[in-house]
Amino acid sequence: MKISNYLLATVKESPADAEIASHKLMLRAGLIRKLASGLYSWLPLGKRALSKVTNIVREEMDKSGAMEICMPVVQPAELWMESQRWSQMGPELFRLKDRNDRNFCLGPTHEEVITDLVRNEYSSYKQLPAIFYQIQTKFRDERRPRFGIMRSREFIMKDAYSFHINQESLNETYKVMHETYSNIFFRLGLNFRSVAADSGSIGGSTSHEFHVLADSGEDEIVFSADGKYAANIELAEANLESPNKEEVKNDFSLIDTGAATSIDSITKLLRVDAKKTIKTLIVHGEDKEGNISNSLVALLLRGDQELNITKAEKLKGVYSPLKFASDQLISEQIGVAVGSLGPKDLDIYKIADYSVEGLCNFVCGSNTDGKHFTDMNWSENCSYDEIADVRRVQEKDTSIADRCPIEIKRGIEVGHIFQLGTKYSESMNASILDSNGKTTLMQMGCFGIGITRLLASCIEQNHDEKGILWPSLIAPFHLIILQIDGHKSADVIPVSESLYNKSLTLNIETMLDDRDKKTSPGVKFAESELIGIPHRIVVSPRTLKDNSVEHTNRQTGKETRVCLSEIEQFLKETVITE
Ligand code: ATP
Ligand code: MG
Repeated sequence: MKISNYLLATVKESPADAEIASHKLMLRAGLIRKLASGLYSWLPLGKRALSKVTNIVREEMDKSGAMEICMPVVQPAELWMESQRWSQMGPELFRLKDRNDRNFCLGPTHEEVITDLVRNEYSSYKQLPAIFYQIQTKFRDERRPRFGIMRSREFIMKDAYSFHINQESLNETYKVMHETYSNIFFRLGLNFRSVAADSGSIGGSTSHEFHVLADSGEDEIVFSADGKYAANIELAEANLESPNKEEVKNDFSLIDTGAATSIDSITKLLRVDAKKTIKTLIVHGEDKEGNISNSLVALLLRGDQELNITKAEKLKGVYSPLKFASDQLISEQIGVAVGSLGPKDLDIYKIADYSVEGLCNFVCGSNTDGKHFTDMNWSENCSYDEIADVRRVQEKDTSIADRCPIEIKRGIEVGHIFQLGTKYSESMNASILDSNGKTTLMQMGCFGIGITRLLASCIEQNHDEKGILWPSLIAPFHLIILQIDGHKSADVIPVSESLYNKSLTLNIETMLDDRDKKTSPGVKFAESELIGIPHRIVVSPRTLKDNSVEHTNRQTGKETRVCLSEIEQFLKETVITE
């Protein structure tokens, strides 16, 4: 490709709303352009890299035995009503009507459509297992589109769905998909982790996410140093260090704590370790239909611990999404301001985290403004109704697998695999005849990779201060030839042209920067680094003086003078063998 006739849409400055490296670089290197919030056009360089990522995913999916299909983006509401997600999905679902006033949506995912397809096409257990996949545009009206294509409203996903006669078969395919995903991310050279995950609104039980490690990641993942435990922080469990054992005191005291209302100020005032305090958080409960109610629920945690909202939202009786009670509601119902709440004589449903279970002689609020109890212990009047895990694990905790230290890192979720069980086959009546001729619901799995997000994650892990460092597998081009000062020497243009043609005959994907003197050498050098082409060859009057050109490896920065007579061999050894 000759740059003089190519849309190399690089820009000097990144826009103010670009916060993370991949977003900035994708805009600056001219890979994407924003059309509207969360909607992007793919420019020629970006599209090439995207196609390569897509092809790697396709190759590995084909190897797994999955069948590629393509389902409509526009989906009839009736199917979503069958699965009950039409009402469950909320504003993230793009909804539309056709000219006859019928309801449709733009697919955010395709469980309903594939289940409908398979229930119509398949009838016998002998046809199973079956795995289908597609690589296609998805639509989600995200509350907060951000980081460019990382969280956009239109994005490309590889989504796969599997159908089974029994759980055993689903387990097998799940394992194959786990391996397939690992192969994909491994081939892309990514530093990633697979972690146990929450299955969220898609449903089902077993689920794993694949995260690319990056400080800009929106998720936090927890794993033990020996790799035996890995989970998304949303559901991660860990062993907590307990305070030293001591003798239980018989008497508690009620003391003035004045304006000290936070755990921090109480521990300072009373010179007590936060591990020996209890904090009381008040949230809204839910009624029988799962609607928000004004009957409040108390969550009790050790003072040095934080609440894990996802865990709390899963508790029966706690309204999801979690909503903290307002100061006004607390004062109306409990008669105290937030900073002096405590479990003793608190007449609402109380859920204690395991961290407070064995505590003795602790400090807690007294439900009287400006006063706390010290040396409090669990008793008939100071008790809880239920014990649960609602704690966010912390770095000093140890793994539940083997007490090994745990690490918490940020990750970008690039893939998610689920065992759906019969969630969709039941609501949509997708059954099949088993070996005894009995009608049985199919077991299902679903498996997603965010292709566009995956590309951004590759950049997030592969860049330096000058620009992108494409892994060669997905680099839009492998070689860029710079024509420098072509107007100063009669040889520069013919030599670079012939080198360009030679590279093309060697099947090397090559760019030739043949722009004339209006584009300065400095700009050509800087742009070649920004767009991250792995190999660069400079043809200039200076290099041609001794019949050579200069090769630079973008990754290592290594520069090599190569004689023109040896260039073909050099290209074969350096560029092609990669
Ligand atoms: P997230 O928690 O990031 O919103 P999700 O759990 O909603 O992701 P899934 O429904 O599991 O995502 O979709 C499969 C994959 O699609 C995700 O692992 C992610 O890589 C990608 N993906 C999801 N939402 C977006 C988005 N808005 N923009 C780009 N990629 C996305
Ligand atoms: Mg989402």
